[in-house]
Amino acid sequence: MAKSKYEYVKEFETDDRMLRNVYVLVRIDGKGFHKFSQTHDFAKPNDVRGINLMNHAARCVMHELDDILLAFGESDEYSFLFRKSTDLYQRRESKIVSTVVSLFTSAYVYYWNDYFTDLKRPLYPPVFDGRAVLYPSEVEVKDYFAWRQADTHINNLFNTSFWALVEEGGLTPKAAEARLCGTDSKDKNEMLFTEFNTNYSKLPAMYRKGSVLLREQILKDEDKDAIIPTLPETLPGSKSAKVVPTSDTATTVPGLQSGPDPISGSV
Ligand code: ATP
Ligand code: ATP
Ligand code: MG
Ligand code: MG
Ligand code: MG
Ligand code: MG
Repeated sequence: MAKSKYEYVKEFETDDRMLRNVYVLVRIDGKGFHKFSQTHDFAKPNDVRGINLMNHAARCVMHELDDILLAFGESDEYSFLFRKSTDLYQRRESKIVSTVVSLFTSAYVYYWNDYFTDLKRPLYPPVFDGRAVLYPSEVEVKDYFAWRQADTHINNLFNTSFWALVEEGGLTPKAAEARLCGTDSKDKNEMLFTEFNTNYSKLPAMYRKGSVLLREQILKDEDKDAIIPTLPETLPGSKSAKVVPTSDTATTVPGLQSGPDPISGSV
């Protein structure tokens, strides 16, 4: 077919194919979810319906895109790790990021009512943004997830303390903030325990550490004895894999610290 005289405009497009043989990490984050969570009466500090809906939307993304190995979610954000060798959309950044964001957002709305059963659909369309980051090795990938999980811990400890002071302690938000100013993790744990009878470490792990979705490998019989490497990139055949939600038990990301919370000190 002859080219139309207009076709030259295609040449204005940017070639945004990402470097090969490195990990592609896509993180999405809700736009203005401080307001969105207020408008929709999210329980504070953690609305479990909101978290489960985020996890469901992330699971949809993993079902659709085989090359995602692992996902980590907290609050209004989700991170998706692609295998190094992915050739999805020839690694074109805008195609990959926009597909993840679009699928996640539409799933969030599509499954809304399964979680927020008293409201047919959100009161206005939620928006998520997205970005891709390239990481050259497992060291950076592990540190990336450790960074996000440390963020979860810091924010959740602060929010748990803040809302205890406001909802149970009767403080104004401003007074609660002033009360927490200059406190470290130990102070907050102590305050929750002595003043609000709350053992922070006994709160659900999903709140304290976020949610992990891991693509499970369905091993053939002859592979059953194989040693599972630390990162799934090196595992064979993702095509037959299924997505396993670990959010109910909220495990930590493989290779990350489990047990003691990853961060302490002044927050
Ligand atoms: P931005 O557009 O810059 O991302 P934002 O308002 O979305 O701004 P974030 O820093 O992304 O701000 O924080 C997300 C907000 O959404 C927090 O205030 C958090 O408390 C709230 N939020 C998200 N999920 C939940 C949930 N499941 N339960 C309660 N609050 C939530
Ligand atoms: P890709 O994922 O590569 O974009 P695609 O299947 O979306 O593949 P397109 O080239 O984008 O292919 O074409 C869109 C398809 O959707 C066409 O087949 C078109 O006929 C169909 N389509 C879109 N909107 C309508 C509509 N309103 N009525 C009927 N068909 C439609
Ligand atoms: Mg943001
Ligand atoms: Mg946000
Ligand atoms: Mg956020
Ligand atoms: Mg199309």
